[in-house]
Amino acid sequence: MGLLRNSLCAMALALFAGSPGNAATLVEPTLHLKPQAAEGGGRVALTLDACGGKTDTRILSALVDNRIPATIFVTGIWLKRNAEAVEIMRAHPDLFELENHGGRHIPAVDTPRKIYGIRSAGSPDAVQAEVESGAAALASAGGPAPKWFRGATAEYSPSAIAMIRKLGFKIAGFSVNGDGGSLLGAKQTARRIGAAKDGDVIIAHINQPTHAAGEGVVQGLLALKQKGMTFVRLDDAEGVGNNGTTD
Ligand SMILES: [Zn+2]
Repeated sequence: MGLLRNSLCAMALALFAGSPGNAATLVEPTLHLKPQAAEGGGRVALTLDACGGKTDTRILSALVDNRIPATIFVTGIWLKRNAEAVEIMRAHPDLFELENHGGRHIPAVDTPRKIYGIRSAGSPDAVQAEVESGAAALASAGGPAPKWFRGATAEYSPSAIAMIRKLGFKIAGFSVNGDGGSLLGAKQTARRIGAAKDGDVIIAHINQPTHAAGEGVVQGLLALKQKGMTFVRLDDAEGVGNNGTTD
């Protein structure tokens, strides 16, 4: 125990003693749609993460039935286990844009640490492997090459952001956290999503069919549609992110 505690202390010291901008500072970038000449009820982009696990068919069916376009960030893990959902998405290329959420859902942070309990990639090589394996999984699933990347937990080290940009991907932040990592209740989720404004990029999850949040995602989206909001995918609109994620 004593040894463990000592080594933990040593690790903590090492983290704090790291070079500036190294271990201590992670960024959670934002993304907005570039403003357009006003028309109708405004534009929002719906982005849904498929981290692992299954498919929330409540959301998938609502998107198809109501013709709501979405950008889906999929991992290699999710692609392997959800062939039926992938087939539905591929059958509606006008609605679904599939983008890169990494090969194994490992945070794109190039120093060793935990984010929301998930161990980071931990090195530049591991970040690169996560990004490239995610793109390769999408390519082998037969779709167009991804242009956007969103790392697990949506937090990054600045040096990882620079590397991912060099690999040719834009990084997808967001401006409305729709479902709090799919952990919010249905009402709160519906309220957050329903309150999205012109130019917002919404993040929620499509891989937790047993969570109440999924019901709220559907309600919030239908409320936005009712208000006359137009939904666009990231490929269809110019997204402007901070922290060097898109420029
Ligand atoms: Zn995720």
